[in-house]
Amino acid sequence: MNAVPHPDPHTDAHPRDVLGRPLRDLRLSVIEACNFRCPYCMPADRVPDDHGLDASSRLSFDEIERLVRGFVRIGVRKLRITGGEPLLRKRLPELIARLAVLDGLDDIALTTNGSLLAAHARALKEAGLHRLTVSLDTLDPAGFAASSGGRGALPDVLRGLDAAREAGFGRIKLNCVVQRGINDDQVLPLVAFAREQGHTMRFIEYMDVGTCNAWSLDRVVASAELRDTIHARWPLHPLGPHYRGEVATRYGFDDGAGEVGFVSSISAPFCGDCHRARVSADGRLYTCLFASEGTELRPWLGDEAIFVSRLASQWQARSDRYSEVRGPARATSGRRVEMFLVGG
Ligand code: SAM
Ligand code: SF4
Ligand code: SF4
Repeated sequence: MNAVPHPDPHTDAHPRDVLGRPLRDLRLSVIEACNFRCPYCMPADRVPDDHGLDASSRLSFDEIERLVRGFVRIGVRKLRITGGEPLLRKRLPELIARLAVLDGLDDIALTTNGSLLAAHARALKEAGLHRLTVSLDTLDPAGFAASSGGRGALPDVLRGLDAAREAGFGRIKLNCVVQRGINDDQVLPLVAFAREQGHTMRFIEYMDVGTCNAWSLDRVVASAELRDTIHARWPLHPLGPHYRGEVATRYGFDDGAGEVGFVSSISAPFCGDCHRARVSADGRLYTCLFASEGTELRPWLGDEAIFVSRLASQWQARSDRYSEVRGPARATSGRRVEMFLVGG
């Protein structure tokens, strides 16, 4: 039989990759479909409406539960449910309730575009979801319609945020991908909104993920520039990370009105502390956001010992550090997994 890593999920005897990095976070896509067509992720002219999988190709809830349990055994402590748009997956709260009780998992979060949140916030909270991240690139209704590829409406997301607060979600993270000339005028309005509402803004540098968006460096606004703009209006001070490998660099407002975070994948890559794995809705493991190929996990799910052992081997063979080795513009032109398949 294959050797199984230490069975106690609370020890540190977990596999490390070639660069000595443990696996701590799992981003699990529950669906590849989305009701939006954000141009930086799933541009409508490149991703047709029927691009998705047959529903039967998606991992079932039983398979997902087995999969997450296996990941916990090799070190995962934090799980983020994502997509596509995860709230399109039927009976999602039922899945979350099953995962929330898994021993060894400390945190379950969900990333959503927020359009369907008003209807689901209470059920998600009751199911045991700990934290919510809602993508919000602009507070301008016309800009919002454009940034969702003409599919979304800002008031739906704002209603979703209200419903989430009423359901008991505190300090919701708001993700904004900033693009120069597109929504960089929204940075201060978004910060003002987050401060008023008790949410936390997180600004993400526009990344060259996937093959569909026409990424260019000219569109990227470096986090340092955003931080200086915000600091000039609301003075900031640096905050330490909550844990090693936290993706966002955090700053607190000097006046005590919360914090803001920056994800600087382009200007300050953080591969050295990358403790994340991603699994697509059809059960493929990607050890980097920029990977070209995934490894099919489904065939191993039938036997927990074999699954855990194979997972450990996959992780031990990992040497990814794309963002650190990429050139100043777009370094590689080959195949890369799409963001909507692995969920960010
Ligand atoms: N549909 C959900 C949503 O939009 O929140 C979850 C999946 S989406 C792929 C996850 C995150 O990836 C979103 O916050 C989105 O803004 C971000 N994202 C997508 N494409 C991106 C890109 N090219 N650069 C940076 N972030 C991107
Ligand atoms: Fe859909 Fe999210 Fe991608 Fe936008 S970023 S197209 S909402 S998956
Ligand atoms: Fe992790 Fe790959 Fe991103 Fe580097 S480029 S931080 S290894 S996902």
